[in-house]
Amino acid sequence: MDVPAGTVLGHEYAGEVVEAGQDGWLRAGDRVTALPLSACGHCPACLAGQPLHCPAFRPMAGGFGQYTLVDQRFAMRLPDSLSFADGALVEPLAAALRGIRKLEPLAGARVAVIGAGAIGASAIFWLRRLGAGRLASITRSRRAEALVAEMGADALLTTGDDLPSRLAAVLGGPPDIVVEGAGAPGLLQQALDLIRPGGSILSLGGCTTPDPILPALAMWKEARFLFSVAYGTSEFQQALATLEAGATAPRGMIGETISLSELPSRFEALRHGSHAAKIMVDPQR
Ligand SMILES: [Zn+2]
Repeated sequence: MDVPAGTVLGHEYAGEVVEAGQDGWLRAGDRVTALPLSACGHCPACLAGQPLHCPAFRPMAGGFGQYTLVDQRFAMRLPDSLSFADGALVEPLAAALRGIRKLEPLAGARVAVIGAGAIGASAIFWLRRLGAGRLASITRSRRAEALVAEMGADALLTTGDDLPSRLAAVLGGPPDIVVEGAGAPGLLQQALDLIRPGGSILSLGGCTTPDPILPALAMWKEARFLFSVAYGTSEFQQALATLEAGATAPRGMIGETISLSELPSRFEALRHGSHAAKIMVDPQR
């Protein structure tokens, strides 16, 4: 996951166009959000709206700056009713949506979501909107209780003793679906421990170290593992349209807003274990 030194990070952003390239639809003054990437625009993957799978794919982060470059083919106009902060929420919502769309059947399903950060909370948001049944959030603390309730969870359960039985009591049985939305080692096995036989486990967290599971248990349960990465243009469009239609719960993911000059110290604090909800960076602050 390393990037070259000097790379400007920040892949969830929105902003105003100050200068537009030639032969495109963007104009100076347009308010946009964008998939934080560039791709060739004409290969089969690009034509299918899946630029992440384009051979010429490259990331276009840069949100932690006053200015950044976006590929206008992957930019989308921000409706007047939405703020730049709303626009910056489209990316994490789209990432969760892509995974949730893979879950069939979802209607009425008993679902547990591990993790209540941006991805876990966004997963809960889509699960509720797209027809899940009883829905539980599993986290280490009660910190995100209000957020996950607003996003649509029926209950928040903390990890620890008797989690399987507490979860079954809340859901009305063991989960049909477990969404892993935190990316820490051990969570895929925890999901496997919790899932009912024949259930589905969706990995959205993206653990970056080897993370063993017990295959014999997965076999015995005939569990199905699904993985999902980022988004295509359609998930971005649906997330944007859902916000435009009036969904306000995702705004609860924003814990505070800071300036660019405050960013380095906040970043260091996060690296050293400080917990925070999503921090919005406002370069005009
Ligand atoms: Zn392409």
